[in-house]
Amino acid sequence: MGNKRIRIAISSCLLGERVRYDGNHKRDAYINDVLSQHFEFVPFCPEMAIGLGVPRATLRLRLSSHGVRAVQSDRGGHDVTRALAAYGRRVAGSDTGISGYIFKARSPSCGPARVKVYDFNGSPSGTAMGIYASAIMETLPLLPVEDEGRLNDPDLRDSFIERVWVCHCWHQLLEKGMTAAALLKFHTEHKFLIPAHSRTALRVLGQITAGLNHDVNMAADHYVQRLMQALSRPARRVNQANVLQQVAGFFQGALNASDRKELHDAIDSFGKADLPIIVPLTLIRHHLRQNPHAWREGQRFLESRPRATGTRRR
Ligand code: SF4
Repeated sequence: MGNKRIRIAISSCLLGERVRYDGNHKRDAYINDVLSQHFEFVPFCPEMAIGLGVPRATLRLRLSSHGVRAVQSDRGGHDVTRALAAYGRRVAGSDTGISGYIFKARSPSCGPARVKVYDFNGSPSGTAMGIYASAIMETLPLLPVEDEGRLNDPDLRDSFIERVWVCHCWHQLLEKGMTAAALLKFHTEHKFLIPAHSRTALRVLGQITAGLNHDVNMAADHYVQRLMQALSRPARRVNQANVLQQVAGFFQGALNASDRKELHDAIDSFGKADLPIIVPLTLIRHHLRQNPHAWREGQRFLESRPRATGTRRR
């Protein structure tokens, strides 16, 4: 993966910056105390960036004849929709080198989903995406995004960090220059990670890399779209257990009976949800150190994210 730190964009208030309408922040302990050790955060506060300042009137999403609008609660409902969306497109189009985005949940600007919308009478009328977040996500549809609330769920957290990590590896590949050989190598490295999410995706992605005689860049675009789509589906436990069995099969001939049993018991227990995946994965990594094999060691499934992020708990 190289030594370059993975960059993740983030709503500034989650880092403890006092940019909220009332001059407060929404510092998130897990993000600041754990994730910050592994990722470089790139903070953005769209409401400050469009000049609303602190303190400022609160924003809310309001239904209008022009769709959902972000309006301030004073100044007769000043409409800042266009400014927020334009800033989102500008950030998305700039060269920030980000591989993910952590948004502040429920914010009319930053919330990536389920932000309350009000009708003319001020009554709740469904939900929508925050205006700025929506512009970012429309411009960068493959960028992994989450909000801080959902990161409290270990499965969602695991999935987000995995996608960020893969996205970062993809950017590195693009930086070096896309070639058929490089795309094929990338696919080989993800051959065990992909079926943990979808066996169909593995087949489709394999077909893309098998026909690389034409336009490699076009094939690469197609490949990464299908890959990120597949990874956005949570990895199923049964699929992960199958992949672990498959990996174990490569070197079990080199193990003694007791090590073989220990590994298979650990995989079985993970399959029954009695152990987290980190247990069989650690055993596999240990056996790989004893029985090195470059191809297996390069597999992203075995090391698919920075360690110690509190993930892989299942
Ligand atoms: S939610 Fe977004 S707009 Fe609101 S204070 Fe935080 S960073 Fe700024």
